[in-house]
Amino acid sequence: MSSMMQPQIILLKEGTDTSQGRAQVVSNINACTSVADMVRTTLGPRGMDKLIHDDKGGTTISNDGATIMRLLEIVHPAAKILVDIAKSQDSEVGDGTTTVVLLAAEFLKEAKPYIEDGVHPHSLIRSYRTAGHLAIEKVKELATSIEGKSLEEKKSLLAKCAATTLSSKLIGGEKEFFASMVVDAVLAISNDDRLNLLGIKKVPGGTMRDSFLVNGVAFKKTFSYAGFEQQPKKFLSPKILLLNIELELKSEKENAEIRLSDPLQYQSIVDAEWNIIYDKLDKCVKSGAKIVLSRLAIGDLATQYFADRDIFCAGRVAEEDLQRVAAATGGTVQTSVNNVIDEVLGSCEVFEERQVGNERFNIFSGCPSGQTATIVLRGGADQFIEEAERSLHDAIMIVRRALKNSTVVPGGGAIDMEISKYLRQHARTIAGKSQFFVNSFAKALEVIPRQLCDNAGFDATDVLNKLRQKHASGEGANYGVDINTGGIADSFANFVWEPAVVKINAINAATEAACLILSVDETVKNPKSESAQGDAAAGAMAGRGGAGMRGRGGRGMRRR
Ligand code: ADP
Ligand code: MG
Repeated sequence: MSSMMQPQIILLKEGTDTSQGRAQVVSNINACTSVADMVRTTLGPRGMDKLIHDDKGGTTISNDGATIMRLLEIVHPAAKILVDIAKSQDSEVGDGTTTVVLLAAEFLKEAKPYIEDGVHPHSLIRSYRTAGHLAIEKVKELATSIEGKSLEEKKSLLAKCAATTLSSKLIGGEKEFFASMVVDAVLAISNDDRLNLLGIKKVPGGTMRDSFLVNGVAFKKTFSYAGFEQQPKKFLSPKILLLNIELELKSEKENAEIRLSDPLQYQSIVDAEWNIIYDKLDKCVKSGAKIVLSRLAIGDLATQYFADRDIFCAGRVAEEDLQRVAAATGGTVQTSVNNVIDEVLGSCEVFEERQVGNERFNIFSGCPSGQTATIVLRGGADQFIEEAERSLHDAIMIVRRALKNSTVVPGGGAIDMEISKYLRQHARTIAGKSQFFVNSFAKALEVIPRQLCDNAGFDATDVLNKLRQKHASGEGANYGVDINTGGIADSFANFVWEPAVVKINAINAATEAACLILSVDETVKNPKSESAQGDAAAGAMAGRGGAGMRGRGGRGMRRR
């Protein structure tokens, strides 16, 4: 009794909220499960889309795991890890973002009963790491290489990968159309790592089928001055001059102070100003260029001057677009018009200003270095086109990955089932409780085919049983969910292919995230940093009130 009367030892400052131990692990697992539940239904070709509506009134429709997770603005500290792995999957491989979240959550879900029964998280973590390692080795072993094929063959193989990615998206109905477009675009820049050489321009209106690929650069017509109408709008093999200077009549009095003693001298100043600009323009014309682009403004005087000499010009071209033109046409951006030699001029087969929807576009096609490509996307609503762009981005990344690593695995849950089977078999050789954990890991992998079935409205238990049986028979390694009939089918033969890196990265990241979350047994909320945030967000009053509440609540609910 007396020991209970001892004063409490206070280590952390007033208002600090801690919770720890097994309950904390379980509560983190629950949080992650509910995050996964939010993106669960988007998986696969029959997955649904999410409409996210933010407080600024913007709406986004998306099927992309990473985009959804980003827009959800999750605040739970453990669940944020899932957001991070989705993001990293997106930047590393570009696809499989829903997959990675589902896998991580499923690993955790399988771990939960053990944690509740008092298994130490570290036993689980160790087994999970081993299982993850084995799984990845197995994926590598099962992957089929597409190396050494002819270009035509390779193209069709890559298109298959792109089509698999696109099949789960809003533009899935036109996946063949877009898949071949994406492959052509990626092959155009194959030797370059700079993704920004591949532009996607969105022009609302029209139908998806009106989208097209420019083997070169396209950008929206920039702001133009009077005189522009008289410039020619089409050239065959023109020389192109790229500038980073202003071609405008500058009043020198803004740059320097000029003192005049005689009013007559004023004319000479004005003349000098005109001479400067005319000199610049003259040099542009002398260079032999038929097209002059500048990142900075090209004024009305210059526009008219060029128009009189049948030269096309565009000012205020976006940096990115100018770089792309430079890369495509082989020109270099100049910061001065003095001494413009032929080598710095670019060229292309055709330049044209063309109407696309209700926008005018400058299009450079048939570029010599062939290092760039631009996809002009058409389609109805803004949200639709935005999502189409994200989907194409996924497909582009996938094709690039497939091209680089050139190994593919069968999708539709086939590879997941096969690894699951392999791990189950392996588990039997393990003595001790690790056997259970590896088995659970194997079971968790089945979440992919199960979710594909659930989302398509199939009987998941039935399909999974068929799949297990097929895979166990030893000949069905490529069998996955048949999304069209609700049965099982050879995914490889049906060309449902994914680059092996997608799976390898997903399993790796999901395992790591699961282990990380399992290893956290205490979360400490520091009241100071919290109230600072609260103040910023909701004003001082609300911040103080909130902190007070949290302080009390926190101590009351100590071990929750
Ligand atoms: P993620 O964001 O993880 O890429 P997706 O919604 O793109 O999620 O779904 C990918 C899953 O859908 C993969 O497991 C892939 O194998 C599967 N999938 C794609 N196309 C098909 C198809 N035609 N038939 C069966 N499964 C498919
Ligand atoms: Mg995908």
